[in-house]
Amino acid sequence: MAHKRKIKSRDIMKKISSIPAPKETDMEVKEILIDNIDMSDRGFPDIKREGVFEHRFKCLSCGLEFKVYSWQEFRHTDENTFCPECGKKGGKFHKSIKTLSTKKEFDVLDKNEIFAQMEK
Ligand SMILES: [Zn+2]
Repeated sequence: MAHKRKIKSRDIMKKISSIPAPKETDMEVKEILIDNIDMSDRGFPDIKREGVFEHRFKCLSCGLEFKVYSWQEFRHTDENTFCPECGKKGGKFHKSIKTLSTKKEFDVLDKNEIFAQMEK
């Protein structure tokens, strides 16, 4: 039986405190309103969080079963998801969507957050 590791806030704080402080610099610090930052070209699309969803797939070409985690219930479909093993796209291989959380805000202590799923 696989050992399940629980994530404690104390462990998270220990990890955060072990990150070295940035080196001092003489660069000018500018204040920019967060609304003025364009995130569209930074690999993190401005998507609306609906919760945490586990999309289960089975590739009908190679048989691989895999899961994709998302903040959106209907973001991943047969049409926009590639098999990570054989690279095939399309076909009828989306099996199910499991709702893990309906929280609209990220909660670091919630075991249903995507990062906590990676610890299993
Ligand atoms: Zn495949």
